[in-house]
Amino acid sequence: MTAAATGGRVAAPLGWRVARLVQRRVETPTAQTLLLSVPDWPGHLPGQHVDVRLTAPDGYQAARSYSLAGPVDGDRIELTVQRVPDGEVSPYLTDVWAEGDPVEVRGPVGGWFVWRPAQTAPVLLVAGGSGVVPLMAMVRARRAAGSRTPFRLIYSVRTPADVIYADELRVRARDDLGLDVTYLYTREAPDGWRGEPHRVGLADVNTHGWPAELEPLCYVCGPTGFVETVADLLVGLGHQTRRVRTERFGPTG
Ligand SMILES: Cc1cc2nc3c(=O)[nH]c(=O)nc-3n(C[C@H](O)[C@H](O)[C@H](O)COP(=O)(O)OP(=O)(O)OC[C@H]3O[C@@H](n4cnc5c(N)ncnc54)[C@H](O)[C@@H]3O)c2cc1C
Repeated sequence: MTAAATGGRVAAPLGWRVARLVQRRVETPTAQTLLLSVPDWPGHLPGQHVDVRLTAPDGYQAARSYSLAGPVDGDRIELTVQRVPDGEVSPYLTDVWAEGDPVEVRGPVGGWFVWRPAQTAPVLLVAGGSGVVPLMAMVRARRAAGSRTPFRLIYSVRTPADVIYADELRVRARDDLGLDVTYLYTREAPDGWRGEPHRVGLADVNTHGWPAELEPLCYVCGPTGFVETVADLLVGLGHQTRRVRTERFGPTG
């Protein structure tokens, strides 16, 4: 494509960069946050992701996408990876990848599933499992910018032990004015939780989301089936399709 074809802007191709693991933090028995060093990282927006590529000694390559979990921090980026049993890439990242070892990353990728602190419309975040990762990047960016934009997070997990960022979310729900966090449990709920474990439904989105008349921006992320269910519920409740932004992580587990 020529510069003329892009209206005078020269689109820089997204190249692969060598990234090294700096540190890992255990979030749940199956999820870890990985801190990577990526020289010349250009910065990113909350909601964007990177592609991570592994190369075997015989030259075989495998690439997968992972959301950026943290705010811009020089040449450091954070990813949170949920280990998928029998997966090709995620078990390597969580169980094998050693500090200092290289992988390749490309990004940041994505321009639609992003939240900018200048946006003031109320925000509804709906996460299924590791789909919380890009939504947490938005919660963190809101805090870092001192934004008062009202945020509501509905976070569906299998059991209390599966809550990623549990401690931080507890603190943010208490201290970040205008942030509400609601948990839904599909298999096992904690003592004292009202109701039975269930998959997200109309009553959950209706009760814990925003009324459509407020024209919130809705970000829905998680397994494919979860995202499609929630997007349909939101549209059925009167939310405009263009205000329901979705990111599908893969099959429903
Ligand atoms: C834009 C984008 C952002 C993403 N961000 C994240 C993130 O922040 N954190 C994260 O942990 N994952 C994220 N993912 C999912 C990630 O890209 C991989 O799909 C996931 O890690 C599985 O890869 P794998 O190589 O381990 O498994 P594979 O070898 O690809 O798959 C192994 C088996 O697991 C099934 N499977 C594949 N993906 C999933 C899934 N997501 N859930 C359940 N079963 C699955 C497959 O159907 C297959 O049966 C994101 C995906 C996209 C498209």
